[in-house]
Amino acid sequence: MAKVNVLSLNPAGVNCSIVTGSRRSLIVDAGPGPNTARVLAHRAAALSEEANGRPNPIDVVTTHDHWDHFFGNASLVAEGAETFYASTSFAADQEATAWIALDAIRSAPETSEFARELPEDPGDLLVEVTPVEEAELDLGDCPVEFHVLGGHSTVDVVIRLPDLGVVFTGDLVEEGDPPQAGSDAALGEWVRSLQTLLAFDEATVFVPGHGVPVDRDFVARQCADLEGYRTMSSDAEVALPARSMPGEHDRTFPRECALRLP
Ligand SMILES: [Zn+2]
Repeated sequence: MAKVNVLSLNPAGVNCSIVTGSRRSLIVDAGPGPNTARVLAHRAAALSEEANGRPNPIDVVTTHDHWDHFFGNASLVAEGAETFYASTSFAADQEATAWIALDAIRSAPETSEFARELPEDPGDLLVEVTPVEEAELDLGDCPVEFHVLGGHSTVDVVIRLPDLGVVFTGDLVEEGDPPQAGSDAALGEWVRSLQTLLAFDEATVFVPGHGVPVDRDFVARQCADLEGYRTMSSDAEVALPARSMPGEHDRTFPRECALRLP
């Protein structure tokens, strides 16, 4: 059976996942830069060697165009990753986004040190993208569905593993911190996207963009939070709450968790 490992990496505490099938591996989000991308490529090779006795070919999918989720893409090309799936809108926007985000990372005090590992030219962060709208993927006993939704960003791709009951939500779901609703967020669309996730009847584990994996109740609560915020957002005092999964969880960085699947 396919395996899912979730790596939580700094900077930005972003979740990057590795799905290991019997024939191929899929990395969900290449992370914020070259160093995290290399960690992911090496873990993907080791996990598939452990499962299948040889390293799988690696594909990559990008959930959305925020830098912490895709600035590692070009480094994964160098590590031999084959196909980069993302939405058509990501393909159209990645260049402009890379220019703006690289500038912002260099000037922000909390990321300026990290920015030194990134290339001078934002063009070096781009990869050739295969649109998910046309993609069909099976990792070997593990079919993968891509769904183009939206709300957290102008385009959010969620990745559904129907046989495993797992969904990778990107930043449509955040655990431990409030969902980040920036200038590119659209709250009504975001609520509808979470309703779509909850309509995936088989789904029991949702891997958020940040924080520990969550269950259906958590997604329903965050959906209600966003709906409440949407109706009150003209009031500047109102903020989205941080929600945490009950129980004890490792929250150190970097960390890796192997999902326990049925
Ligand atoms: Zn984001």
